[in-house]
Amino acid sequence: MIHPATELRYISPTIGFGVYATAFIPRGTIVYVQDALEIVLPADHPLLTAEIYQPILHKYSTVEKDGSRLLSWDIARYVNHSCQSNSLSTGYGFEVAVRDIQPGEEITDDYGLFNLPYDMPCACGHPDCRNSIRPSDFELLIDRWDNQLHAALAQLIPLEQPLWRYLDETTQTAVYTDLATGKFRSVQALRHG
Ligand SMILES: [Zn+2]
Repeated sequence: MIHPATELRYISPTIGFGVYATAFIPRGTIVYVQDALEIVLPADHPLLTAEIYQPILHKYSTVEKDGSRLLSWDIARYVNHSCQSNSLSTGYGFEVAVRDIQPGEEITDDYGLFNLPYDMPCACGHPDCRNSIRPSDFELLIDRWDNQLHAALAQLIPLEQPLWRYLDETTQTAVYTDLATGKFRSVQALRHG
C-alpha cells in the first residue's frame, strides 16, 4: 500500500504512468508497506511461467528474497525507478523516503533492490544514471543504500506515519528495537538467493 498523499499521473507513452506526492513527505516517512492485501505468488506458482502473464509480471511485480513475486493491489505498482530514488526498500517489508519529497514530485524506487533476474536499461535522466539496472548492483551499492536508509530510519519515530498500522506487530517491535540500539537491518536481507 502506497502512502495516502500520492496520486497516479500519466507521464508519456514511453514511461507510462508514475506516482506523485500530493503533499510534503519528509525523509523517514514510510511511503510503501507490504500490507496483507498484497498479492504474493510463491516461487513455484505456475503463473510465474505462464507465457501470457510474463509481460505483466515483468512490468509490475518485484522478486522477493525467497523468489516469490509480489504484486501490489494499489497504485504502488506504478512507482518508477530512478538511479537516485527518493524512496528505498528496507529489510522490514516497507519502503521509506530517504530524502524530503516535495508536493508534485514523483515518488521513485531503486529497482536494483528488486532482484531483477535480468539487466534492465535505464534512462531515468539523472546525472548519475547507471544506464542499466543489474542484479550485480547489490554489490556496488549496498553500502550507499544502507547509509541512506540508516539516516532515514533514524527520523522515523516522531513523524506522522499513516502506514505504520499496516505493519505486523513483529515488524513494529523489530523497528522499535533496532531504533533503540541503532542496529538497522541491512538491505542484504532483501537479496534473493
Ligand atoms: Zn538511471
